[in-house]
Order: sequence, then structure tokens, then C-alpha cells
Amino acid sequence: MESPNNEGGTTVKEQNVGEDILNQLVTMTNRLGDPALDYAILGEGNTSSRADAETFWVKASGYEMRTLTASGFVRVAFDKVLALLNRVNLSDKETKEGLSAAKVDPGVSAHPSVETILHALCLGLEGVNFVGHTHPTAVNALTCSVAFEIAFSGRLFPDEIVLCGPAPLLVPYTDPGVPLASKVKQLLTGYLDRYGEPPRVVLMQNHGLIVLGRSAAQVENVTAMMVKTARVLLGALSAGGPHFMSQEQVDRIHTRPDELYRRQQLGVA
Ligand SMILES: [Zn+2]
Repeated sequence: MESPNNEGGTTVKEQNVGEDILNQLVTMTNRLGDPALDYAILGEGNTSSRADAETFWVKASGYEMRTLTASGFVRVAFDKVLALLNRVNLSDKETKEGLSAAKVDPGVSAHPSVETILHALCLGLEGVNFVGHTHPTAVNALTCSVAFEIAFSGRLFPDEIVLCGPAPLLVPYTDPGVPLASKVKQLLTGYLDRYGEPPRVVLMQNHGLIVLGRSAAQVENVTAMMVKTARVLLGALSAGGPHFMSQEQVDRIHTRPDELYRRQQLGVA
């Protein structure tokens, strides 16, 4: 049996696990924010990870992904964040106040990102423990183009399917905050009905990319593969248009045993 420490009943073991998750989140965030990768600059992007069944860590507003440390994250309660989705016509001020009230420690001055509600939705899905949201130039060249939907309507190569799943979830441009989170919630339900598993990649029109992962490594790997996919697409669009794989070929790669094994080796199964 673990002996409770002096601060609020958590066991030493629980505290160590919590610190480990936060350390992994900080490392993942710094890596995703590396300017050489061109995923995010300045204050762009945000990340999160599940801390326990009731709470999660999310990046605070105003921090740069490449340099932030543990103090750049705020721990918030799932139920208080998700309750904002049930309130009608929330103003920007009310949203900010609602997110502030969701902080586990009200004394922390850092403020949760406006995209915190999106993170709560993603972390609430089966098998999702880490989330990385970035604005990669290669991906946004397509999410900001007139070809957004058609460009991402098919799969291009087997490793894209192994890492990024059978299809991304595409989200039409929506005002950030509660309206965007409500839209994503509705589309996630449709995706789960159709594919029977959560998406690994969400692409938001005129905005960017969200990657959902079981581990921090999975979020980094899937982000890298999605950026490569976007670069391949840009090349294919300039060479007469993409040649998409057939649905039968996609289904075969998504379900064949050797690819499932490869996914496990890559930490994405
Ligand atoms: Zn964003």
C-alpha cells in the first residue's frame, strides 16, 4: 500500500506518475515546437496530456512551445471544461472565466489556452492520452487552399495509413473556442460511427492540425508523417493531381497483420 504524502491525499506513486506524464508532455511540446520542423512558430500551437481520470494538463496561453517548461502547463478538470459546451452563446469573456474556473489550483496564474475544450474532447476518447496541436506550413498550405476537402479525400501511400489511420477528420473553418469545439464534437461522433475508432488526425480548415496519441512518441510520429503526407500531396497536385489508393487497398493496409505488428513497434497501435 502506498503511503499518502502530506499534501492532499495523493500517494507518492501517483505523484511520481503525474510528474512523469508532465515531463513527457514538456519534452514532446519542445520537440514539436522546434523551428527546424516548421510545425509552429512564436505562440502557435498547444498540447495536452491526461493526468488522471478527472484532470488533464494543457498548455497555457502566451507560451512558446519550443522553450516552455512545466510551469507553462495548467492542470484543469475535464467536467468543468466540457460543461462549457452546454452553455449557449458564451461570450469570449465568459469562456475565459469558465476555463479559469476549471483550474485544479486556482492560485496558478497561467491561463488555459482557448483551445482547451478541444483538448478535453480529444483526451476523452478511448486510447488517447496525449494531444499535439500545431500549424505546420506544409499542412496549412492545403488546409488554407481551395483544394482542402478533395486533397485529403484519399490516401496516398501505405505508411500514411499505418501512422495516420484510415482517414483524417476534416473540420470546416469555425470560430475558435466553444463554436469550434461544438463542431468538432459533432464531427467526432460521425467519425466514430463510420470507422469504429477515434481519428489520429484532425485537420481544421484555415487553421491547422491536431494529432491524438496513446503516447507522446505517437503524437510526434503521426505529426511527422502527416507533414510528409502534406508535402507529397503538394508535389502530387503540381504533377497532374494525386493518385489515391483504392478503398480496398486502404482497408487491406489498415488491417493486415504485418502492418499491425509494425504499428506496435512504432508505438502507434
Ligand atoms: Zn491553433
